[in-house]
Amino acid sequence: MTDQARLSKSQYVQGAQCVLSLWFSRNRKDLTPPVDAAQQAMFEAGNEVGGWAKKYFLNGVEVTTPFFDSDAGEAATYAFIQSGHEAIFEATAISKEDGSHARIDILRKTAGAEGWDLIEVKGSTSVKDYHLDDMAFQYRVFTGAGFLINQCFMMLIDNQYVRQGDIDVHRLFRFEDITHEVRGKQSEIGRIAASLSNALDSPAEPQIKVGARCFKPFDCHYAHHCWRDIPQYSVYNVYDSKKADEIVDAIGSYEVGSIPTEMLPTGIKGNDVRSYVSDTVYKEPSNIRQFLAGLQYPIYYLDYETIAPTIPAFDATRPFQTVPFQFSLHIEDEPGADLRHYEFLHKEQSDPRLAFIQALISLCGDRGSVVTYNQAFEEGVNKALMRDFPVYAEKIDAINFRMIDLLIPFRKRWLYHPSQHGSASIKKVLPAFSDLSYEGLAIGNGLDASNKYAAFISGTLSDGEVALLWQGLTEYCGLDTLAMKALVDALKAHCR
Ligand code: SF4
Repeated sequence: MTDQARLSKSQYVQGAQCVLSLWFSRNRKDLTPPVDAAQQAMFEAGNEVGGWAKKYFLNGVEVTTPFFDSDAGEAATYAFIQSGHEAIFEATAISKEDGSHARIDILRKTAGAEGWDLIEVKGSTSVKDYHLDDMAFQYRVFTGAGFLINQCFMMLIDNQYVRQGDIDVHRLFRFEDITHEVRGKQSEIGRIAASLSNALDSPAEPQIKVGARCFKPFDCHYAHHCWRDIPQYSVYNVYDSKKADEIVDAIGSYEVGSIPTEMLPTGIKGNDVRSYVSDTVYKEPSNIRQFLAGLQYPIYYLDYETIAPTIPAFDATRPFQTVPFQFSLHIEDEPGADLRHYEFLHKEQSDPRLAFIQALISLCGDRGSVVTYNQAFEEGVNKALMRDFPVYAEKIDAINFRMIDLLIPFRKRWLYHPSQHGSASIKKVLPAFSDLSYEGLAIGNGLDASNKYAAFISGTLSDGEVALLWQGLTEYCGLDTLAMKALVDALKAHCR
């Protein structure tokens, strides 16, 4: 064995995305940010999936040694094998060739043959490229440790499963055999692992430029450091990240103002840059007027908050199914009238959908426009409700029929402010055209709302946290619909 760094699987995955990120994790711990709420929610979701996967293997045993102590993990794994166990969770191996080490979710004795199968559990419905790299590294380590590995499987979520009663793990999961792909990657994995070990051992910081790698397959933790001198609106906001890499190489700058005219993209993206460089609001009054002419009073400004749990939380739902638990509704009866505000928020740990539908139908009336921002989302949620609650389908469909998408004039750039930086997100558009903003809210985005409500459903919040959750959700969702009214006013102000 060499004296090189003993690479772990997580280090390999990190380094395969960017060697600098791997180097920072060992040599610049001061740059590593604490785990944030979104990451924590992701870890917890992963643990929940892992917990259900273990129930699939009734006689499984688990290696519980600390994750950083691979020697102890290896010893525990061999002890389980000696005792005749045939399914070992978190089984650990250390390669005799280079000391690299890995924990596999499940090491399973191959039925009716010598040797073992590797099984990796993912809260995903399909195999991603980085899953193959992940498993290929594990295969390399386990075979390097002397295991005979017959097959490699991904244990994935089957999104066709519909929960009825207790979770049925045999229908929740499906297996995909990736043995062929994993074996085909072995020489590439060995080469990359050797170069990452070298980099990890070196005191010199690898010289890596920011680029597409910073976001794929994961958002890198060190972006706050590496991107600190990159403008907020950069070449990466104008082109897809691969093309942006090429442009940056060609012009030697991240500034959108440095992009030569002949290299600007056509259409909307090019207009965005021109608006930014000239610091000018761009507008198309005739299109705005046409859009506004389609609005019919009373106007119902409507917004949903939802969860989409990997493990279905309620009967008659599927993995990742979007389940609405809150809506905000501001009603403008006639031009200039005071707004009326209504809200539905399901405050029980039960399926919110029936009560949601009934409140929606009773409050949305039967005439006037229903204004949403990104109609496809609310419309899609409603279609799933129509499928699952057919008795209400006609009335929900009538609400969909009245929907108007307020995103359209901003996405099509009929009205565009240079501070939008190429985005039509309501978080960017609202402060550009009104005094309202999402800054300072306890819940400031839909993912946060979803994660916190999911924590409420799972019963992990204290009474005090639940009270704060209701307050935060009411403020956030209420602002979403108030924002739409403000944006309609902004369109009116710019239609001449
Ligand atoms: S931000 Fe980009 S360049 Fe910096 S460490 Fe991460 S992936 Fe590498």
